Parts: sequence; structure tokens; C-alpha cells
Amino acid sequence: MSQQETLYRVQELDTRILELRGCEGNHPLQAEIEALREGREKGLAESEQTVANLEESRKKQRGLEDEVQGVEEKLGREEEKLYGGKVNNPKELRGLQAEVRSLKHKKDILETRLLEEMENLDEITRKADELQGERDRLQAEIDEKAGVLDGEIAEIRAELAGLEERRRELRSQVDEELLELYDELLESKHGLAVVKVSDGVCLGCRVELPGIEFDRFLKTESAFTCTNCGRILAK
Ligand SMILES: [Zn+2]
Repeated sequence: MSQQETLYRVQELDTRILELRGCEGNHPLQAEIEALREGREKGLAESEQTVANLEESRKKQRGLEDEVQGVEEKLGREEEKLYGGKVNNPKELRGLQAEVRSLKHKKDILETRLLEEMENLDEITRKADELQGERDRLQAEIDEKAGVLDGEIAEIRAELAGLEERRRELRSQVDEELLELYDELLESKHGLAVVKVSDGVCLGCRVELPGIEFDRFLKTESAFTCTNCGRILAK
């Protein structure tokens, strides 16, 4: 194999290696997983708020239940006085009747509020379950994608190891001076140091080689660079 051909193969390997390294460091699945994690974090904040709302609603409910119980007990005592036969004074009896009416009214109001709070608690519980379900779904999706990503990264690394091994072998067949030029070009020309020539046109810079240069290029097997972009040319 000529130096040109060998170096062209090294370039092919380097192109693939650069592509794979880009994929390894910036895999599209990684971005997807990040987005899912952000969604999960947001959901977590909302869940925490819902849990706080749940606790508050339960507390309110308990408070209302206590109040209803207190009113019921008082009502029981007042009714006992009213109907127990111990009070005979008409004025006092009227007073007791008024008190019983007032307590029943208060109990009605409290029971309505309690019912509303129970409905509110149901609603918050439903919301909390929904958020939990959504978080579980996101977590499952994250786990699944992370598994696929791990597998793909492992494949990329295995392929890279093979390519790097092959590149070492090929580079050992290239003259040191030419390798130095190649490495410099790879750096300065954004990963493309060796290019083919098609119909006298350098495929690196798309500029046509002067006729006399092209003739010389066709006749040589040794290293040859583009007069315009300086890249190493291959047939
Ligand atoms: Zn060129």
C-alpha cells in the first residue's frame, strides 16, 4: 500500500473515531434523559406542595369534626334540660328552645363545611395519585432510556477500541515526517487532513488543481498536498 493510500485509510479511521467520540460524549439519548429528569424534578416540587395541601385539609377536617362533636354534645345537654321536665319556668324554657335552635343551625353550617372539606380532600388525594403515577411513568422511561444508553455507549467504546488498534497499525507504516504533517492538518483542518481528488478538483477545498500539478499528482505515489488548502491528496 502506498503512503497516500495508507494515510487515506488512517483518515477514514480518524473520521469515524471523531464521529464516535462525539456520539459518546453527546449522545442524543443523554439529552432526552436530562429532559425527563427535569420533568420529574418539577413533578416532585408539585407533589410536595400537594402533600402539604393534603395535610392541611386533613387538619381542617379533624378540626371541623371536633367542632361538630362539641356542638352535638352541647345540643344534647340543652335538649335534655328542655325535655327532661326539670325546667318549668316558661321564660327559661323559651330560652332553652332558642338555644337549641341556634345550636342546630350552627351544627348544620359546620356539617356543610365538613362535607365541602371532605370533597376538597378527595380532590387533592386524586391529584396526589395522579402526580405519583406521572412520576412513576417518568422514572420508568428514564430507567429504560438509561439502559439503552449504557448499551449503546458500551458498543461505541468497543468499536472505538477496535478502530484505535487498527489506526495504530496503519500509522506505524507511515513515514514520521508525513505523520507529523497529517496530525497538524487534522488539527488545523477540523479533522480532515487527507482528501481525494476528483476530476482534478481537491475534495477538501473544491478548488481545481493547476494542470501541471495535477499531472505530477497522477504520476506520484508519494505524499502530495493541495496547492490551495494544503491538505494531503489521495487518489
Ligand atoms: Zn484543497
